[in-house]
Amino acid sequence: MKKQINWLDILIRCKNNIQEQIKPLLKKLDQPQPNLGIGAGGDPIKQIDLAAESAIINTLREHEVSFTLISEESGIKKYGQTPNDNFVTTDPIDGTTNLVRGIPFYATSIAVSTKPTINTIHTALVTDLVHGITYTAQKGKGAYRNNQKITPSKTESLEDAVIGIDLNTYKIQKIAPKLTNLIQRTKHIRHLGANALELCYVADGTTDAFLDIRGKLRTTDMAAAWLIIKEASAKITTPKGKLLNVKLSPKQKVAFIATANQKIHKIMLSLVKPEKEMK
Ligand SMILES: [Mg+2]
Repeated sequence: MKKQINWLDILIRCKNNIQEQIKPLLKKLDQPQPNLGIGAGGDPIKQIDLAAESAIINTLREHEVSFTLISEESGIKKYGQTPNDNFVTTDPIDGTTNLVRGIPFYATSIAVSTKPTINTIHTALVTDLVHGITYTAQKGKGAYRNNQKITPSKTESLEDAVIGIDLNTYKIQKIAPKLTNLIQRTKHIRHLGANALELCYVADGTTDAFLDIRGKLRTTDMAAAWLIIKEASAKITTPKGKLLNVKLSPKQKVAFIATANQKIHKIMLSLVKPEKEMK
């Protein structure tokens, strides 16, 4: 018989261990932060990324759970006797550039699923590592910020909305024209540099929408926030308004529009022109 695993408890222990392990490294940010290679997701790896990833792996192993790790840093790795029972998708540090530069906005993101697909995620955690704020969700049980239930905003007008847009792409000449109509009608655009956390901001009403139509974001970055958005009853779809159903893999890319509510979702969909759906 399979043993019952309290995944939420384990994920909280993972983030506690990360906070512990990175503490000494955060004190040394005035020293050079060399790249230690390229991670499975394609970004350079820093020592702090590896420390955070090790903290997750070590915590999971201490709990003697079998799992397949899907990580932005070391890619896909199997642990234990039945690694296909659980898939743990993580970006150990989302926003490493912010961290290294001293910009106080970075997070850890961990999601657990029964298959390597986004729609089988059942437990998720995103922690703002600067402010110690933890977002969690379990399928069917709502979304929480430091144990308080969260709901998204009721903002329905673009004029009032605070909207996050990730525009970091070499293909900006292709992407920008699709966003012109939206940007023209928006007063408050932000990009804070850690997409997992920016999605949680939509879930708890801090902002009203976040969109990333570059087709460049990895599923490892947004897997946990996907469940937090869903459980908070905010909306997240493809740029064409379809159900997001993607594989969980360090190489899998995703494009999406996440909004606080149906009304603002409809307005944004009508203004954004997607070229093609990302598979
Ligand atoms: Mg990262």
